[in-house]
Amino acid sequence: MSIKVISEDDKKLVKVALERLDNSFDEPLQSVACAARTKNGDIITAMNFKHYAFVTCAEMAALAIVQNEYDSPIELITSVRYIHGVPEVINACGRCRQVLIDHWPDVNFVLKTDDGLRKAGAQEVLPYTYIHYPGGKK
Ligand SMILES: [Zn+2]
Repeated sequence: MSIKVISEDDKKLVKVALERLDNSFDEPLQSVACAARTKNGDIITAMNFKHYAFVTCAEMAALAIVQNEYDSPIELITSVRYIHGVPEVINACGRCRQVLIDHWPDVNFVLKTDDGLRKAGAQEVLPYTYIHYPGGKK
């Protein structure tokens, strides 16, 4: 696996995430939406949410939806946010990368790079990472 240019289908997934994004949080909190495509081709979206005790990343909300509602792993996930009122693609935080890779070692992430949007898998986004469930969660 390597860092790749995203395909037209991958760009459509980014567009779905942007359509899902709303500006519900006031700064310094960020509104973040994500869109994920399963290996079966299902597209799901999720927003982050907050409580006074914690904030849950959109990626973790998406993971919960897929775990509960779909029988197919996430193959690609992308995240977007509003920053100072402007939407943009963002890279998943380290915690979300780790948790998603633990569940689905073949998951790919859309990455915002200096060369534009790319996608990459576990070895690129968390090299030499700890693997909690070798072979994926059963
Ligand atoms: Zn996160």
